[in-house]
Amino acid sequence: MSVIKEVIDKVKQTDPDQPEFHQAVQEVLETLEPTVKRHPEYVKAKIYERIVEPERSVIFRVPWVDDKGNVQVNRGFRVQFNNAIGPFKGGLRFHPSVNLGIMKFLGFEQTFKNSLTTLPMGGAKGGSDFDPKGKSDGEVMKFCQAFMRELYRYIGAEVDVPAGDIGVGAREIGYLYGYYKKIRNEHTGVLTGKALEYGGSLIRPEATGYGTTYFAAEMLATRNLDFKNKIVAVSGSGNVAQYAVEKVTEMGGRVITLCDSSATIVDEKGIDKKKCEFVMELKNIKRGRIKEYADKYKCVCVEGLNVWDVIREQGIKVDIALPCATQNEIDGRNAQALVKNGCICVAEGANMPSTPEAIEVFQEKKILYGPGKAANAGGVSTSGLEMSQNSLKLSWTREEVDNRLLIIMKSIHKACLDTAEAYDRKGDYVTGANIAGFTKVARAMLAYGVV
Ligand code: NDP
Repeated sequence: MSVIKEVIDKVKQTDPDQPEFHQAVQEVLETLEPTVKRHPEYVKAKIYERIVEPERSVIFRVPWVDDKGNVQVNRGFRVQFNNAIGPFKGGLRFHPSVNLGIMKFLGFEQTFKNSLTTLPMGGAKGGSDFDPKGKSDGEVMKFCQAFMRELYRYIGAEVDVPAGDIGVGAREIGYLYGYYKKIRNEHTGVLTGKALEYGGSLIRPEATGYGTTYFAAEMLATRNLDFKNKIVAVSGSGNVAQYAVEKVTEMGGRVITLCDSSATIVDEKGIDKKKCEFVMELKNIKRGRIKEYADKYKCVCVEGLNVWDVIREQGIKVDIALPCATQNEIDGRNAQALVKNGCICVAEGANMPSTPEAIEVFQEKKILYGPGKAANAGGVSTSGLEMSQNSLKLSWTREEVDNRLLIIMKSIHKACLDTAEAYDRKGDYVTGANIAGFTKVARAMLAYGVV
Protein backbone atom coordinates (compact mmCIF):
# COMPACT_ATOMS: atom_id res chain seq x y z
CA MET A 1 0.00 0.00 0.00
CA SER A 2 1.29 3.49 -0.78
CA VAL A 3 2.47 5.52 2.18
CA ILE A 4 -0.03 8.23 1.26
CA LYS A 5 -2.98 5.84 1.49
CA GLU A 6 -1.69 4.46 4.77
CA VAL A 7 -1.49 7.95 6.26
CA ILE A 8 -4.99 8.89 5.05
CA ASP A 9 -6.43 5.65 6.45
CA LYS A 10 -4.70 6.17 9.77
CA VAL A 11 -6.03 9.73 10.08
CA LYS A 12 -9.57 8.45 9.46
CA GLN A 13 -9.20 5.61 11.96
CA THR A 14 -7.61 7.72 14.68
CA ASP A 15 -10.17 10.53 14.60
CA PRO A 16 -13.31 9.14 12.95
CA ASP A 17 -15.43 12.12 14.03
CA GLN A 18 -13.46 14.76 12.07
CA PRO A 19 -14.85 14.61 8.49
CA GLU A 20 -13.64 18.07 7.45
CA PHE A 21 -10.11 17.20 8.57
CA HIS A 22 -10.25 13.90 6.64
CA GLN A 23 -11.40 15.79 3.56
CA ALA A 24 -8.55 18.30 3.79
CA VAL A 25 -5.91 15.64 4.44
CA GLN A 26 -7.15 13.48 1.58
CA GLU A 27 -7.32 16.41 -0.83
CA VAL A 28 -3.74 17.47 -0.05
CA LEU A 29 -2.06 14.11 0.40
CA GLU A 30 -3.44 12.52 -2.76
CA THR A 31 -1.82 15.24 -4.82
CA LEU A 32 1.50 14.69 -3.00
CA GLU A 33 1.81 11.13 -4.37
CA PRO A 34 4.45 12.12 -6.99
CA THR A 35 6.68 13.54 -4.23
CA VAL A 36 6.91 10.10 -2.63
CA LYS A 37 8.89 8.69 -5.57
CA ARG A 38 11.05 11.77 -6.01
CA HIS A 39 11.86 12.16 -2.33
CA PRO A 40 12.48 8.86 -0.56
CA GLU A 41 14.09 10.92 2.21
CA TYR A 42 10.64 12.28 3.11
CA VAL A 43 9.31 8.74 3.41
CA LYS A 44 12.24 7.61 5.55
CA ALA A 45 11.86 10.59 7.90
CA LYS A 46 8.09 9.96 8.09
CA ILE A 47 7.33 13.52 6.97
CA TYR A 48 3.88 12.51 5.65
CA GLU A 49 2.95 10.93 9.00
CA ARG A 50 4.27 13.91 10.95
CA ILE A 51 2.72 16.64 8.81
CA VAL A 52 -0.87 15.48 9.53
CA GLU A 53 -0.34 15.62 13.30
CA PRO A 54 -0.63 19.07 14.94
CA GLU A 55 2.29 20.18 17.07
CA ARG A 56 -0.33 20.69 19.80
CA SER A 57 -4.08 21.29 20.20
CA VAL A 58 -5.38 23.23 23.17
CA ILE A 59 -9.05 23.05 24.20
CA PHE A 60 -10.27 25.27 27.00
CA ARG A 61 -13.31 26.43 28.96
CA VAL A 62 -14.54 29.98 28.29
CA PRO A 63 -16.97 31.09 31.03
CA TRP A 64 -18.55 34.55 30.79
CA VAL A 65 -21.58 36.46 32.05
CA ASP A 66 -24.28 37.67 29.62
CA ASP A 67 -26.30 40.90 29.82
CA LYS A 68 -28.96 39.23 31.96
CA GLY A 69 -26.38 38.17 34.52
CA ASN A 70 -26.49 34.51 33.47
CA VAL A 71 -23.28 32.49 33.32
CA GLN A 72 -22.51 31.13 29.84
CA VAL A 73 -19.90 28.53 28.98
CA ASN A 74 -18.27 28.09 25.57
CA ARG A 75 -15.41 25.98 24.36
CA GLY A 76 -12.19 27.57 23.07
CA PHE A 77 -9.61 26.04 20.73
CA ARG A 78 -6.11 26.74 19.44
CA VAL A 79 -4.59 24.15 17.13
CA GLN A 80 -0.90 24.92 16.57
CA PHE A 81 -0.37 22.80 13.51
CA ASN A 82 3.13 23.34 12.23
CA ASN A 83 5.85 25.91 12.98
CA ALA A 84 8.63 24.49 10.80
CA ILE A 85 9.03 27.66 8.71
CA GLY A 86 7.97 30.38 11.17
CA PRO A 87 5.82 31.18 14.21
CA PHE A 88 2.35 29.65 14.21
CA LYS A 89 -0.08 31.88 12.35
CA GLY A 90 -3.78 31.58 11.51
CA GLY A 91 -7.18 33.04 12.25
CA LEU A 92 -9.72 32.71 15.03
CA ARG A 93 -13.26 31.64 14.10
CA PHE A 94 -16.30 32.31 16.30
CA HIS A 95 -19.18 30.24 14.98
CA PRO A 96 -21.51 27.63 16.54
CA SER A 97 -20.18 24.97 14.13
CA VAL A 98 -16.61 25.21 15.48
CA ASN A 99 -15.18 21.93 16.79
CA LEU A 100 -11.78 20.25 16.92
CA GLY A 101 -12.12 18.66 13.46
CA ILE A 102 -12.88 22.00 11.82
CA MET A 103 -9.99 23.67 13.66
CA LYS A 104 -7.65 20.89 12.50
CA PHE A 105 -8.79 21.14 8.87
CA LEU A 106 -8.23 24.88 8.90
CA GLY A 107 -4.86 24.66 10.68
CA PHE A 108 -3.67 21.97 8.26
CA GLU A 109 -4.68 24.03 5.22
CA GLN A 110 -3.10 27.11 6.77
CA THR A 111 0.28 25.38 7.01
CA PHE A 112 0.47 24.94 3.22
CA LYS A 113 -1.09 28.31 2.47
CA ASN A 114 1.37 30.17 4.68
CA SER A 115 4.24 28.32 3.08
CA LEU A 116 3.02 29.43 -0.35
CA THR A 117 3.02 33.11 0.62
CA THR A 118 6.87 33.09 0.62
CA LEU A 119 6.76 34.65 4.14
CA PRO A 120 8.09 32.87 7.26
CA MET A 121 4.85 31.76 8.90
CA GLY A 122 3.77 28.40 10.32
CA GLY A 123 0.16 27.18 10.38
CA ALA A 124 -2.46 27.36 13.14
CA LYS A 125 -6.16 27.99 13.70
CA GLY A 126 -8.35 28.66 16.68
CA GLY A 127 -11.73 29.86 17.77
CA SER A 128 -14.83 29.00 19.67
CA ASP A 129 -18.39 27.71 19.29
CA PHE A 130 -19.50 31.15 20.54
CA ASP A 131 -21.99 32.83 18.16
CA PRO A 132 -21.54 36.63 18.02
CA LYS A 133 -24.83 36.94 16.11
CA GLY A 134 -27.55 38.52 18.25
CA LYS A 135 -25.13 39.37 21.07
CA SER A 136 -24.66 42.93 22.35
CA ASP A 137 -21.30 44.66 22.01
CA GLY A 138 -20.90 44.25 25.77
CA GLU A 139 -21.47 40.51 25.57
CA VAL A 140 -19.01 40.15 22.67
CA MET A 141 -16.44 42.10 24.70
CA LYS A 142 -16.95 39.94 27.78
CA PHE A 143 -16.65 36.79 25.73
CA CYS A 144 -13.47 38.01 23.96
CA GLN A 145 -11.91 38.90 27.32
CA ALA A 146 -12.76 35.49 28.79
CA PHE A 147 -11.37 33.80 25.66
CA MET A 148 -8.11 35.76 25.84
CA ARG A 149 -7.84 35.13 29.59
CA GLU A 150 -6.84 31.57 28.63
CA LEU A 151 -5.47 31.97 25.10
CA TYR A 152 -2.75 34.43 26.16
CA ARG A 153 -0.72 31.55 27.67
CA TYR A 154 -0.13 29.99 24.27
CA ILE A 155 0.45 32.95 21.95
CA GLY A 156 3.12 35.61 21.44
CA ALA A 157 4.65 37.73 18.69
CA GLU A 158 7.41 35.16 18.09
CA VAL A 159 5.32 32.11 19.06
CA ASP A 160 1.83 32.20 17.62
CA VAL A 161 0.03 35.17 16.05
CA PRO A 162 -3.75 34.76 15.62
CA ALA A 163 -5.94 36.89 13.32
CA GLY A 164 -9.62 37.09 12.30
CA ASP A 165 -11.81 34.64 10.41
CA ILE A 166 -15.56 33.99 10.35
CA GLY A 167 -17.20 35.92 13.18
CA VAL A 168 -13.95 37.64 14.18
CA GLY A 169 -13.55 41.05 12.60
CA ALA A 170 -12.21 44.45 13.64
CA ARG A 171 -14.46 44.68 16.73
CA GLU A 172 -13.42 41.30 18.11
CA ILE A 173 -9.70 41.82 17.35
CA GLY A 174 -9.91 45.13 19.25
CA TYR A 175 -11.37 43.48 22.35
CA LEU A 176 -8.94 40.54 22.16
CA TYR A 177 -5.87 42.72 21.68
CA GLY A 178 -6.96 45.22 24.35
CA TYR A 179 -7.27 42.46 26.89
CA TYR A 180 -3.96 40.82 25.94
CA LYS A 181 -2.23 44.17 26.32
CA LYS A 182 -3.87 44.65 29.72
CA ILE A 183 -2.90 41.30 31.22
CA ARG A 184 0.58 41.05 29.67
CA ASN A 185 1.38 44.74 30.00
CA GLU A 186 3.03 44.70 26.59
CA HIS A 187 2.29 46.18 23.18
CA THR A 188 3.51 43.66 20.61
CA GLY A 189 2.40 42.25 17.30
CA VAL A 190 0.61 39.30 18.92
CA LEU A 191 -2.49 39.60 16.75
CA THR A 192 -2.98 40.79 13.19
CA GLY A 193 -6.00 42.51 11.73
CA LYS A 194 -5.52 45.27 14.28
CA ALA A 195 -6.90 48.77 13.63
CA LEU A 196 -4.47 51.36 12.28
CA GLU A 197 -4.36 53.30 15.55
CA TYR A 198 -2.78 50.42 17.46
CA GLY A 199 -0.46 48.67 15.01
CA GLY A 200 -2.64 47.53 12.14
CA SER A 201 -1.70 47.59 8.47
CA LEU A 202 -3.41 49.47 5.69
CA ILE A 203 -5.04 47.04 3.22
CA ARG A 204 -5.30 44.17 5.79
CA PRO A 205 -9.14 44.36 5.88
CA GLU A 206 -9.24 44.35 2.08
CA ALA A 207 -6.47 41.81 1.56
CA THR A 208 -8.28 38.48 1.28
CA GLY A 209 -10.98 39.75 -1.09
CA TYR A 210 -8.53 41.82 -3.14
CA GLY A 211 -6.02 38.97 -3.21
CA THR A 212 -8.61 36.46 -4.43
CA THR A 213 -9.55 38.85 -7.21
CA TYR A 214 -5.89 39.42 -8.16
CA PHE A 215 -5.38 35.65 -8.23
CA ALA A 216 -8.47 35.16 -10.42
CA ALA A 217 -7.20 37.88 -12.77
CA GLU A 218 -3.86 36.04 -13.09
CA MET A 219 -5.71 32.80 -13.87
CA LEU A 220 -7.89 34.53 -16.48
CA ALA A 221 -4.81 36.10 -18.09
CA THR A 222 -3.44 32.60 -18.86
CA ARG A 223 -6.35 32.34 -21.31
CA ASN A 224 -6.12 35.93 -22.47
CA LEU A 225 -9.22 36.87 -20.49
CA ASP A 226 -10.00 39.48 -17.83
CA PHE A 227 -12.83 40.71 -15.57
CA LYS A 228 -14.14 43.32 -18.02
CA ASN A 229 -17.89 42.89 -18.55
CA LYS A 230 -17.89 39.46 -16.92
CA ILE A 231 -20.79 38.35 -14.75
CA VAL A 232 -19.44 37.35 -11.36
CA ALA A 233 -21.10 35.38 -8.55
CA VAL A 234 -19.77 36.06 -5.04
CA SER A 235 -21.08 34.20 -1.98
CA GLY A 236 -21.06 35.37 1.64
CA SER A 237 -21.37 39.03 2.59
CA GLY A 238 -18.64 39.29 5.21
CA ASN A 239 -15.09 40.56 5.10
CA VAL A 240 -13.83 38.49 2.16
CA ALA A 241 -16.97 38.86 0.04
CA GLN A 242 -17.22 42.64 0.53
CA TYR A 243 -13.72 43.38 -0.71
CA ALA A 244 -13.96 40.84 -3.52
CA VAL A 245 -17.04 42.73 -4.75
CA GLU A 246 -15.19 46.05 -4.47
CA LYS A 247 -12.14 44.87 -6.44
CA VAL A 248 -14.08 42.95 -9.10
CA THR A 249 -16.22 46.03 -9.74
CA GLU A 250 -13.07 48.16 -9.99
CA MET A 251 -11.67 45.70 -12.54
CA GLY A 252 -14.79 46.02 -14.71
CA GLY A 253 -16.74 42.92 -13.66
CA ARG A 254 -20.42 42.87 -12.64
CA VAL A 255 -21.11 41.08 -9.34
CA ILE A 256 -24.71 39.89 -9.19
CA THR A 257 -24.97 37.78 -6.01
CA LEU A 258 -24.29 37.76 -2.27
CA CYS A 259 -25.64 35.69 0.61
CA ASP A 260 -25.58 35.14 4.33
CA SER A 261 -26.64 32.07 6.26
CA SER A 262 -30.32 33.07 5.89
CA ALA A 263 -30.74 34.19 2.27
CA THR A 264 -29.26 34.88 -1.18
CA ILE A 265 -29.78 38.06 -3.16
CA VAL A 266 -29.50 38.27 -6.96
CA ASP A 267 -29.09 41.77 -8.38
CA GLU A 268 -28.74 41.47 -12.16
CA LYS A 269 -27.97 45.20 -12.44
CA GLY A 270 -24.78 44.62 -10.48
CA ILE A 271 -23.61 45.43 -6.96
CA ASP A 272 -21.82 48.70 -7.74
CA LYS A 273 -19.64 50.82 -5.43
CA LYS A 274 -22.58 52.52 -3.72
CA LYS A 275 -24.45 49.27 -3.15
CA CYS A 276 -21.25 47.67 -1.86
CA GLU A 277 -20.92 50.49 0.68
CA PHE A 278 -24.50 49.75 1.76
CA VAL A 279 -23.55 46.09 2.32
CA MET A 280 -20.51 47.10 4.39
CA GLU A 281 -22.60 49.35 6.60
CA LEU A 282 -25.37 46.73 6.86
CA LYS A 283 -23.01 43.91 7.83
CA ASN A 284 -20.18 45.62 9.72
CA ILE A 285 -22.05 48.30 11.62
CA LYS A 286 -25.77 47.52 11.73
CA ARG A 287 -25.06 43.77 11.79
CA GLY A 288 -28.24 43.21 9.75
CA ARG A 289 -29.31 40.47 7.31
CA ILE A 290 -28.64 40.47 3.56
CA LYS A 291 -32.38 40.37 2.89
CA GLU A 292 -32.40 44.09 3.70
CA TYR A 293 -30.35 44.66 0.52
CA ALA A 294 -33.21 43.20 -1.55
CA ASP A 295 -35.72 45.36 0.33
CA LYS A 296 -33.69 48.48 -0.49
CA TYR A 297 -32.69 47.73 -4.09
CA LYS A 298 -35.79 45.72 -5.09
CA CYS A 299 -33.96 42.68 -6.39
CA VAL A 300 -34.47 38.92 -6.07
CA CYS A 301 -34.07 37.43 -2.60
CA VAL A 302 -34.29 33.68 -1.96
CA GLU A 303 -34.44 32.65 1.67
CA GLY A 304 -32.96 29.37 2.88
CA LEU A 305 -30.69 28.75 -0.13
CA ASN A 306 -27.06 29.67 -0.77
CA VAL A 307 -25.77 31.42 -3.90
CA TRP A 308 -24.86 28.19 -5.69
CA ASP A 309 -28.25 26.55 -5.05
CA VAL A 310 -29.98 29.63 -6.45
CA ILE A 311 -27.76 29.71 -9.55
CA ARG A 312 -28.56 26.03 -10.19
CA GLU A 313 -32.29 26.31 -9.52
CA GLN A 314 -32.78 29.48 -11.56
CA GLY A 315 -30.31 28.70 -14.35
CA ILE A 316 -28.45 32.00 -13.86
CA LYS A 317 -25.60 32.73 -16.28
CA VAL A 318 -22.27 33.28 -14.54
CA ASP A 319 -18.78 33.73 -16.02
CA ILE A 320 -16.72 33.72 -12.82
CA ALA A 321 -17.45 32.30 -9.36
CA LEU A 322 -15.82 33.54 -6.15
CA PRO A 323 -17.09 31.48 -3.20
CA CYS A 324 -16.35 33.60 -0.10
CA ALA A 325 -18.65 32.21 2.62
CA THR A 326 -17.69 28.87 4.17
CA GLN A 327 -16.53 25.27 3.70
CA ASN A 328 -18.38 22.86 1.37
CA GLU A 329 -20.79 25.48 0.03
CA ILE A 330 -20.47 24.24 -3.60
CA ASP A 331 -21.41 20.58 -4.03
CA GLY A 332 -21.14 18.43 -7.15
CA ARG A 333 -24.61 19.33 -8.44
CA ASN A 334 -23.98 23.02 -8.05
CA ALA A 335 -20.59 22.71 -9.75
CA GLN A 336 -22.24 20.96 -12.72
CA ALA A 337 -24.80 23.75 -12.94
CA LEU A 338 -22.15 26.47 -12.75
CA VAL A 339 -20.22 24.97 -15.65
CA LYS A 340 -23.41 24.43 -17.63
CA ASN A 341 -24.36 28.07 -17.07
CA GLY A 342 -21.08 29.25 -18.59
CA CYS A 343 -18.66 29.53 -15.67
CA ILE A 344 -15.03 29.58 -16.83
CA CYS A 345 -13.21 30.36 -13.59
CA VAL A 346 -13.61 29.56 -9.89
CA ALA A 347 -11.28 31.23 -7.37
CA GLU A 348 -11.87 30.36 -3.72
CA GLY A 349 -12.00 33.26 -1.25
CA ALA A 350 -13.26 30.89 1.44
CA ASN A 351 -11.40 27.87 2.82
CA MET A 352 -12.41 24.58 1.17
CA PRO A 353 -15.73 25.91 -0.20
CA SER A 354 -15.87 23.22 -2.92
CA THR A 355 -16.59 19.59 -2.04
CA PRO A 356 -14.33 16.90 -3.59
CA GLU A 357 -17.14 16.16 -6.09
CA ALA A 358 -17.27 19.82 -7.12
CA ILE A 359 -13.49 19.97 -7.60
CA GLU A 360 -13.69 16.88 -9.79
CA VAL A 361 -16.28 18.60 -12.00
CA PHE A 362 -14.16 21.77 -12.36
CA GLN A 363 -11.05 19.77 -13.22
CA GLU A 364 -12.80 17.40 -15.61
CA LYS A 365 -14.39 20.30 -17.50
CA LYS A 366 -11.00 22.03 -17.57
CA ILE A 367 -12.25 25.34 -16.25
CA LEU A 368 -9.81 27.52 -14.29
CA TYR A 369 -9.97 26.38 -10.67
CA GLY A 370 -7.92 28.14 -7.95
CA PRO A 371 -8.07 26.39 -4.55
CA GLY A 372 -8.43 28.50 -1.40
CA LYS A 373 -4.97 27.89 -0.05
CA ALA A 374 -3.58 29.74 -3.06
CA ALA A 375 -6.42 32.08 -4.04
CA ASN A 376 -7.22 33.41 -0.55
CA ALA A 377 -3.62 33.59 0.72
CA GLY A 378 -3.66 37.39 0.36
CA GLY A 379 -5.19 37.75 3.82
CA VAL A 380 -2.46 35.96 5.70
CA SER A 381 0.20 37.47 3.42
CA THR A 382 -0.88 40.93 4.47
CA SER A 383 -0.99 39.74 8.07
CA GLY A 384 2.65 38.79 7.50
CA LEU A 385 3.25 42.32 6.23
CA GLU A 386 1.52 43.67 9.34
CA MET A 387 3.95 41.59 11.46
CA SER A 388 6.90 42.99 9.50
CA GLN A 389 5.71 46.56 10.07
CA ASN A 390 5.18 45.86 13.80
CA SER A 391 8.74 44.48 14.06
CA LEU A 392 10.15 47.47 12.19
CA LYS A 393 7.89 49.86 14.13
CA LEU A 394 6.96 51.43 10.79
CA SER A 395 3.76 51.89 8.79
CA TRP A 396 3.79 51.45 5.05
CA THR A 397 1.46 53.39 2.76
CA ARG A 398 -1.66 51.92 1.26
CA GLU A 399 0.01 51.79 -2.18
CA GLU A 400 3.08 50.04 -0.82
CA VAL A 401 1.10 47.31 0.95
CA ASP A 402 -1.29 46.83 -1.97
CA ASN A 403 1.63 46.58 -4.35
CA ARG A 404 3.34 43.97 -2.17
CA LEU A 405 0.05 42.05 -1.97
CA LEU A 406 -0.24 42.05 -5.76
CA ILE A 407 3.37 40.85 -6.12
CA ILE A 408 2.77 38.05 -3.60
CA MET A 409 -0.43 36.89 -5.34
CA LYS A 410 1.39 36.86 -8.68
CA SER A 411 4.25 34.87 -7.17
CA ILE A 412 1.85 32.35 -5.60
CA HIS A 413 0.12 31.99 -8.95
CA LYS A 414 3.45 31.41 -10.69
CA ALA A 415 4.61 28.93 -8.02
CA CYS A 416 1.39 26.92 -8.51
CA LEU A 417 1.79 26.79 -12.29
CA ASP A 418 5.56 26.12 -12.27
CA THR A 419 5.25 23.33 -9.71
CA ALA A 420 2.28 21.75 -11.49
CA GLU A 421 4.28 21.72 -14.71
CA ALA A 422 7.37 20.29 -12.99
CA TYR A 423 5.19 17.37 -11.87
CA ASP A 424 3.56 16.86 -15.32
CA ARG A 425 0.23 18.37 -14.26
CA LYS A 426 0.26 21.53 -16.36
CA GLY A 427 -2.47 23.99 -15.37
CA ASP A 428 -3.48 22.00 -12.27
CA TYR A 429 -3.53 24.64 -9.51
CA VAL A 430 -4.50 22.10 -6.85
CA THR A 431 -1.44 19.92 -7.35
CA GLY A 432 0.78 22.97 -7.85
CA ALA A 433 -0.37 24.69 -4.64
CA ASN A 434 -0.19 21.55 -2.53
CA ILE A 435 3.25 20.41 -3.68
CA ALA A 436 4.78 23.90 -3.62
CA GLY A 437 3.40 24.55 -0.10
CA PHE A 438 4.42 21.10 1.14
CA THR A 439 7.97 21.13 -0.21
CA LYS A 440 9.18 24.12 1.81
CA VAL A 441 7.67 22.77 5.05
CA ALA A 442 8.98 19.23 4.39
CA ARG A 443 12.52 20.49 3.74
CA ALA A 444 12.51 22.48 6.98
CA MET A 445 11.18 19.50 8.95
CA LEU A 446 13.87 17.31 7.43
CA ALA A 447 16.57 19.79 8.41
CA TYR A 448 15.51 19.73 12.06
CA GLY A 449 15.85 15.96 12.43
CA VAL A 450 13.25 14.21 14.55
CA VAL A 451 11.67 16.87 16.78
P1 NDP B 1 -17.24 36.76 7.93
O1 NDP B 1 -17.72 36.25 9.23
O2 NDP B 1 -16.85 38.18 7.78
O3 NDP B 1 -18.31 36.43 6.79
C1 NDP B 1 -18.77 35.15 6.53
C2 NDP B 1 -19.94 35.28 5.61
O4 NDP B 1 -20.35 33.99 5.15
C3 NDP B 1 -21.17 35.87 6.31
O5 NDP B 1 -21.88 36.62 5.39
C4 NDP B 1 -21.93 34.62 6.72
O6 NDP B 1 -23.30 34.83 6.93
C5 NDP B 1 -21.70 33.75 5.51
N1 NDP B 1 -21.89 32.35 5.84
C6 NDP B 1 -21.30 31.64 6.83
N2 NDP B 1 -21.76 30.38 6.84
C7 NDP B 1 -22.65 30.31 5.82
C8 NDP B 1 -23.46 29.27 5.32
N3 NDP B 1 -23.44 28.05 5.86
N4 NDP B 1 -24.25 29.53 4.24
C9 NDP B 1 -24.27 30.77 3.69
N5 NDP B 1 -23.53 31.80 4.14
C10 NDP B 1 -22.74 31.56 5.19
O7 NDP B 1 -16.01 35.79 7.52
P2 NDP B 1 -14.87 36.03 6.44
O8 NDP B 1 -15.41 36.80 5.30
O9 NDP B 1 -13.67 36.50 7.17
O10 NDP B 1 -14.55 34.52 6.00
C11 NDP B 1 -15.23 33.88 4.92
C12 NDP B 1 -14.41 32.69 4.43
O11 NDP B 1 -13.11 33.14 4.02
C13 NDP B 1 -14.14 31.62 5.50
O12 NDP B 1 -14.08 30.35 4.85
C14 NDP B 1 -12.76 31.98 6.01
O13 NDP B 1 -12.09 30.87 6.59
C15 NDP B 1 -12.10 32.41 4.71
N6 NDP B 1 -10.92 33.26 4.85
C16 NDP B 1 -10.96 34.45 5.53
C17 NDP B 1 -9.83 35.24 5.63
C18 NDP B 1 -9.87 36.58 6.27
O14 NDP B 1 -8.87 37.30 6.15
N7 NDP B 1 -10.95 37.00 6.89
C19 NDP B 1 -8.53 34.78 5.10
C20 NDP B 1 -8.61 33.56 4.31
C21 NDP B 1 -9.76 32.83 4.23
P3 NDP B 1 -23.89 35.19 8.38
O15 NDP B 1 -23.66 36.66 8.51
O16 NDP B 1 -25.31 34.79 8.32
O17 NDP B 1 -23.11 34.37 9.38
